[in-house]
Amino acid sequence: MIQLYQPLNFMGMVYREIKQAIIDIEQMFRILKRETEIADAPGAAPLTVPAGTIRFEDVRFSYDPDRPILQGLSFEVPAGRTVAIVGPSGAGKSTISRLLYRFYDVTGGRITIDGQDVRAVTQASLREKIGMVPQDTVLFNDTIRYNIRYGRWEATDAEVEEAAKLAQIDGFIRMAPKGYETEVGERGLKLSGGEKQRVAIARTILKGPPILLLDEATSALDSHTEKEIQDALQLVSKNRTTLVIAHRLSTIVAADEIIVLDKGRIVERGTHAALLAAGGLYASMWNRQREAEEAREKLAQTGEGE
Ligand code: ADP
Ligand code: MG
Repeated sequence: MIQLYQPLNFMGMVYREIKQAIIDIEQMFRILKRETEIADAPGAAPLTVPAGTIRFEDVRFSYDPDRPILQGLSFEVPAGRTVAIVGPSGAGKSTISRLLYRFYDVTGGRITIDGQDVRAVTQASLREKIGMVPQDTVLFNDTIRYNIRYGRWEATDAEVEEAAKLAQIDGFIRMAPKGYETEVGERGLKLSGGEKQRVAIARTILKGPPILLLDEATSALDSHTEKEIQDALQLVSKNRTTLVIAHRLSTIVAADEIIVLDKGRIVERGTHAALLAAGGLYASMWNRQREAEEAREKLAQTGEGE
């Protein structure tokens, strides 16, 4: 019996894997199709950003028709202010940034910037006005200087270096074998997640857009690096409309508003102090992160003692 059962079981496994592969391929094609569907509307005008107010009005979205991801989201980022989105993994946080940058179109409701629907303006102008620091920055196999200048091609060498200084990456670059002319990538200098993110921040500083979209790295950075990145980000976001997706709550304590997202819905919103006092999901996330950080610190201390 067992002899017969095992091969059957194995075949079942193979079948399930093949089936999953087919589902994955189907999904890939659907995504590709959707992405090519994103095009400029006929007669689309360039986006103008006199103030920089972002509004999400009853935004609904699904990647898959039968699986809603965002289920009626409304919030505003007033001009020059900072709003943070937090919530468990899979809540739909990164999806929000993809919709604002218009990698996808909403399936219901609308997103406006200073009153203009993002679907009505040219994609080029939209992406020119938004500086995006993604969760995972892709660097080109070229020099560090090239990778920073990507933010604004006309920038001078001095401007590139000034941006790198503000992003707290200049010191690291100067220690590299050929400084700013050092090649990065597979055959060149390998950068850590935090270093790549600082290159992305330098690009964004150089670009100087009125709107900032930050998706914080999930990878655990050491607290020294994190502090440096945080300082750099604070500098860039000053007086700019900023939407930040935060994983470490300690980084968004000062946000004008914190929106707590769970399963595609806003479940709580308010300032850090108000949310802590409310004792809900945010408060429990905050306590959990603090405990984890304390445990990490204790572990680091015992490590040093050895
Ligand atoms: P978060 O950033 O809050 O962790 P995401 O916005 O990345 O969450 O994802 C929200 C949900 O959408 C998740 O369940 C995720 O699996 C799903 N999802 C994300 N990207 C895609 C995609 N390209 N196609 C299908 N589903 C996706
Ligand atoms: Mg995410």
